[in-house]
Amino acid sequence: MATKYVYTFGDGKAEGEAKMRELLGGKGANLAEMSRIGVPVPAGFTITTEVCTYYYDHKQTYPQGMKQEVERALKHVEKVMGAKFGDAKNPLLLSVRSGARDSMPGMMDTVLNLGLNDVTVQALAAASGNDRFAWDSYRRFVQMYGDVVLGLKPTSKTEIDPFEKILDEVKEKAGVELDNELGVEDLQKLVKLFKAEIKKQTKSIFPEDPWQQLWGSIGAVFGSWNNQRAIIYRRLNKIPDEWGTAVNVQAMVFGNMGDDCATGVAFTRDPATGTNLFYGEYLRNAQGEDVVAGIRTPKPIAELKKEMPKLYKELNDIRLRLEKHYRDMQDVEFTIQRNKLWMLQTRNGKRTGFAACTIAVDMVKEKLIDEKTAIKRVDPNALNQLLAPIFDTKKKAAAVKGGALLAKGLPAGPGAATGRIVFHADDAEAMAKKGDPVILVRIETSPEDIKGMKAAQGILTAKGGMTSHAALVARQMGRVCVAGCGALDIDYKKGTMKVGGKTFKEGDFISLDGSAGEVLADKIDVSPSEVKVALFGKGAAATKAKRSRTYQAFAKLMAWADKFRKLEVWTNADQPNQAADAVVYGAHGIGLCRTEHMFFGGDRIVAVREMILADDLAGREKALAKLLPYQRKDFIGILKAMGARPVTIRLLDPPLHEFLPHTPAEIAEVAKAMGVSPKVIKAKTAALHEFNPMLGHRGCRLGVTYPEIYRMQVRAIVEAAVQVKTVNKINVHPEIMIPLVGHVKELDMLRKEAEQIIAEVLGKKKMKLDIMIGTMIELPRAALTAGDIAKVADFFSFGTNDLTQTTFGLSRDDAGSFLPEYVAKGLLPEDPFVAIDQNGVGRLMQLAATEGRATNAKLQVGICGEHGGEPSSVKFCHKIGLNYVSCSPPRVPIARLAAAQAALE
Ligand code: ADP
Ligand code: MG
Ligand code: MG
Repeated sequence: MATKYVYTFGDGKAEGEAKMRELLGGKGANLAEMSRIGVPVPAGFTITTEVCTYYYDHKQTYPQGMKQEVERALKHVEKVMGAKFGDAKNPLLLSVRSGARDSMPGMMDTVLNLGLNDVTVQALAAASGNDRFAWDSYRRFVQMYGDVVLGLKPTSKTEIDPFEKILDEVKEKAGVELDNELGVEDLQKLVKLFKAEIKKQTKSIFPEDPWQQLWGSIGAVFGSWNNQRAIIYRRLNKIPDEWGTAVNVQAMVFGNMGDDCATGVAFTRDPATGTNLFYGEYLRNAQGEDVVAGIRTPKPIAELKKEMPKLYKELNDIRLRLEKHYRDMQDVEFTIQRNKLWMLQTRNGKRTGFAACTIAVDMVKEKLIDEKTAIKRVDPNALNQLLAPIFDTKKKAAAVKGGALLAKGLPAGPGAATGRIVFHADDAEAMAKKGDPVILVRIETSPEDIKGMKAAQGILTAKGGMTSHAALVARQMGRVCVAGCGALDIDYKKGTMKVGGKTFKEGDFISLDGSAGEVLADKIDVSPSEVKVALFGKGAAATKAKRSRTYQAFAKLMAWADKFRKLEVWTNADQPNQAADAVVYGAHGIGLCRTEHMFFGGDRIVAVREMILADDLAGREKALAKLLPYQRKDFIGILKAMGARPVTIRLLDPPLHEFLPHTPAEIAEVAKAMGVSPKVIKAKTAALHEFNPMLGHRGCRLGVTYPEIYRMQVRAIVEAAVQVKTVNKINVHPEIMIPLVGHVKELDMLRKEAEQIIAEVLGKKKMKLDIMIGTMIELPRAALTAGDIAKVADFFSFGTNDLTQTTFGLSRDDAGSFLPEYVAKGLLPEDPFVAIDQNGVGRLMQLAATEGRATNAKLQVGICGEHGGEPSSVKFCHKIGLNYVSCSPPRVPIARLAAAQAALE
């Protein structure tokens, strides 16, 4: 059978369905599904994503037979809608809409009111009995067609849109301020002027022929798959370029025919907090785009209940039906044409981390979904938002009292943000690159601004509602956002923002409270979030926070995650308080305790320097003897904090030069301690210079050349363990980890030395204690010879930072200057230091785990690189059967959730 390229929908039937989103795109598949379940949808058809692929592979042409299918489908639409395309009396008008597999809101193009020309406009006027409406629709169509299909756009960020320029001139001549105050004659004039401008600038003529309009628009919408902002959006959201978009051609319905008409967008629950309340906005007598574009500030959906009660009820019924059907929060578009409700779109709504948790947990309670589905619904990284700081209540109250509150807008993206004002997206990017926190301030945002929005801490707009572009994107990105703050007077040219009687310039600091919708002057200090207070707070504040909806949802979700996950989650911590925090976050153990961090505190560094610079063994041992009590004390603290949980302590790893004195004062200090002249110290320091320290004298190589260092560290560990066990009666589990092993003989030798010390200390105390000794796998040679190494190791821990550096042969500290370009140019899907490179580094890991376990069935395998807290890497670790992942304390909840998702996928 020949491939089917076009699928119709409407009139309670459809050729497609929800599960065909790969072929029909999200919008097309859901329009079909809504039709099927009896939700009123204007009839139309979807041209598949396969046609898009063909279009790009075949020099922008269409597959054979597709045109006939479009003609047939259009006949279907004509029949259902009772109107004829291009007819002089009863013309069918169309919209041509993009729609990829995953929604890319506003990134691609749409053409509305298609089919209008000098003849059909008369018919529309007669049929609607509203000349003004007909001509306004026509001028909008010419404008959209000129922009989207014929490419008449502003040439720079400061130049105003050529159509808007003409519109402003006509408005000025007519002496009116708003578009909707223009009369029929003005609108007719606009149509003429627009067409003339198109002809002048693009050398193309606006086509009167509806079929020519239709094919032009279909091509342009396919073409918009590769416009700049769509490409950037795909990069940011990891959507493959190969997917392509579908094109939806649909009968127009009008929300702008009069006061019995309206258009709106709504969420079936609050997308910022997750509260189960119908949430949305609408405008009376307006066309779709007007609501999202932020040009007129819309009314909250609750008003519709008063203004059009019957239609509100119908809409609310559809809301409940859609949620039941899709079993997820929906984001819908609707239009009311002459008291008749039409649904134009539904999709799973984007939401904040707060809303994601609350909705998932609520829906389990409502029996819409089960616990497993709830777990899969929440992006692990979204938990960051729940832990992110909020403004300190007292500091904020004081600031407000001092007059810092400048204005109120809409609380579109919750959280606290402080940063420097920037008015343009690319400036936001540039400033963020320099490390400055940024607040992007715009009259309204458009899809072009996404990169700047991503770079900013917060987003502030003067126009637009809770469902405006700015609000939508901010929530999705987890950015703080205050939208529709009408009190702002923004002047892009001057680079100023006037508000509350004050003038702010680019670079000035402001603060946004995205939960309250407040704009505040200056910086305001932040304090821990509700979830953090619930976890770590004390007394009444903690009790109150524990009762909050957000914490309740968070705790439930975490409990479910723990029920399903197979991977254990450990943490990287080297201070007792960090370790204690990690336990509260749910860590089962410490996967990496870096001993070198302990070398810097107080006067320890002097002793460390003495050790490094000593001439001989005796000198080193003298200095090490000074360090021993410090190390022992540190280990006692950590072991106590972790109780019976495993604590993996890594012996000294970094190149010694990191500890060397640099400033004259430091040099003098060490010289004095060692009783030599600063000159001697300087010479020794120079002698220790290495060309490539990261591949130099570090890791277990230090243990080989200076065995006394590791001996001291092992002794400190064992003595600490003995003390905590006897004094605190804690059944401690220290594990000794030897870094940077590349050859089994290194580990074999160092293990024997460590065992000797362990036996010696325990023998003296007549005690028994199981202390595992293992190694990091962070060199390709270690991974490749894992079978041998495992014979003398109780555990492996993948040090994926070094393993990535050494596998790629690239230095992480220097990669910043070229790696981003690799990602931008699509050579790498992602920075391999952020997410494990599964095909390369990951293969080495898999090989090492498998071959290690083959020679040592009891081998414990984990990961302690920074990847241990990154969701896709956690999932990979689950897949290759690791026992645990270890990450920084605040990432522990994220890893727990990711591990559960991995187990359920
Ligand atoms: P996006 O994906 O950017 O939201 P849409 O295809 O949903 O683009 O269309 C943009 C706007 O046009 C929406 O506000 C939508 O409601 C409106 N629109 C699209 N098709 C129709 C139609 N057939 N009748 C009336 N309005 C429409
Ligand atoms: Mg839409
Ligand atoms: Mg390392």
